[in-house]
This record gives sequence, structure tokens and C-alpha cells, in this order.
Amino acid sequence: MAKTYQLKSAHALVTGGGRGIGAAIAKALDEAGAKVSVLGRNEAKLNEVRDSLGHKGMAATCDVTDGSQVKSTIAAIEEEAGPIDILVNNAGAAASAPFAAMSDDVWDHMLAVNLTSVFSLTQAVMKGLQKRGAGRIINIASTAGLKGYPYVTAYTAAKHGVVGLTRALALELAQTDITVNAICPGYTDTELLAGAAENISAKTGQSTQDIIKQFAASNPQNRLISPTEVASAVVWLCSNEASGMTGQAISISGGEVM
Ligand code: NDP
Repeated sequence: MAKTYQLKSAHALVTGGGRGIGAAIAKALDEAGAKVSVLGRNEAKLNEVRDSLGHKGMAATCDVTDGSQVKSTIAAIEEEAGPIDILVNNAGAAASAPFAAMSDDVWDHMLAVNLTSVFSLTQAVMKGLQKRGAGRIINIASTAGLKGYPYVTAYTAAKHGVVGLTRALALELAQTDITVNAICPGYTDTELLAGAAENISAKTGQSTQDIIKQFAASNPQNRLISPTEVASAVVWLCSNEASGMTGQAISISGGEVM
């Protein structure tokens, strides 16, 4: 088992850490003893999460779709809070539209926020990680990284891309103590899901409650996933005992994907 890396002395950065799944991951990593920095666009929410943590890192505002902002923000975080050992690429967004009506802007934004951001952030921490030879990269993909869903072609393409990047990079780093994994949640109870339900409701006239029931029904356990379930999988992947796990895409979806 790799010995060079310890979660308790690690510095973790969680993108999109101001709310939803990212805020739950930040809290869980803090409880596991890591120093946690959070990054996103909403300064007030990021500060609120950072202030609630026991092992405080930095709260950094950054648009993950802007590659040069990503580079300078990672440099600022590492200068203030120390080298990043754990990167959780969680920031993301989901827009839906029938394929024939999907605008170039929606396509470009879905790839930028869900896939290219993973490239930019991971590359920005990579030199330091390789120098130290140990760490964790965890990409929050989606069941949409493993199967198709209608009306979300761009999101699905981006999340499949995240799973592909995860697998290829894991092999590239397999001789180091840096592991690279993806977590693929099914429908999870966050603002992103509520927004998706409202969008469908506006288009179909169905109530948001009925739509959320349909989301839950796509999970064989007939329920939504909780952000804390995703967070506890992240903590386990960050443990020393998970050193042999790399290149995996772990679905947390009540058996929707197997
Ligand atoms: P939320 O909408 O609740 O949160 C999204 C997070 O991403 C926010 O913290 C937001 O930060 C951040 N974010 C979005 N765009 C940008 C940007 N351009 N720059 C910086 N930060 C950005 O979503 P969830 O918590 O539900 O989703 C988190 C991840 O989990 C996403 O990658 C999503 O695709 C994935 N996922 C979600 C599922 C679900 O059903 N909820 C299912 C499967 C996967 P800010 O508020 O500061 O802008």
C-alpha cells in the first residue's frame, strides 16, 4: 500500500464547494481531517462553507470555464493554503434541450463547464502533484458519464468525456501514488436537480413534484441520492486504503447503472 500520502495531513480543493454536492464533500473531507479550500463563483456562499470548517483552507472565487483564471487562482490558493494534494472536480451545470434545437452556446458551455474545466484544473495542480508523487484526483461525473439520457446530449457527451479523461490519466499516473477516479451519481437532491425539474415543468406543464418523482423512479431504490452519500465515497477514495483504486467510475445510483 502506498505510504507517501495521508488524508489527515492533506490539503483538498473542492470546486463548486459553495453548495450542493460540493459543500457536502468539503464538510466530509474536513471531518476526515483534511484542510479544505473551496472554489466557485458565489463568494458569500463559499465564505459561509469555509467559515463552517474546522480545518480552513481558502475560499476562492473563480469561473472554472476561464482557463487563465483557473491557473492564477490555483497559484493563489497554493501560495496561501499550501500545495494541493486532493483535487475534487465537482463544479458543473446541466442544461437540457432537444438535440435539433440545441444552440452552439449551450453545447460550448456544457463542454466548458463540465469537461474542459476538469482539464484546466487538473493540469494546474499536476506539476505540484507529480513533484510530490502522491495525491488524489476525483472527478464528479454522473450516471450520464456511463449511459445516455434524452435531451441532455451536451451534458452527457461532456460527462462521458470526464470518465474518459479519468481512465486515461489514471494509467498515465499509475506508477505514482496519485490516483484518478470518477464518481457517477444518479439523480441527487440539490439545486441543480430542482432547476432541471423546473425547466421540464415549464416546458411540459407537469408539476415539479411529479417530475422529481419520475427522477427518483429511475433509481431502482426509488429515491434521490443524498449529497452526503457522494461525499462519503470521496472520503474513502482519499483514504490510504483506497490506493489501489484508480481509473474507476463508481456509480452511486441505487443500481441504475451496473
Ligand atoms: P449545484 O447546481 O447545486 O452546484 C453546482 C456547483 O458548481 C456550484 O457550487 C457552482 O458554484 C459550481 N459552478 C457551476 N458553474 C461554475 C463555473 N462556471 N465556475 C465555477 N463554479 C461553477 O449542483 P450539484 O451539487 O447537483 O452538482 C455538482 C456536480 O455533480 C456537477 O458536476 C453535476 O454535474 C454533478 N452531478 C449532479 C447530479 C444531480 O442530480 N444533482 C447527478 C450527477 C452528477 P457557484 O454557485 O459558486 O456558481
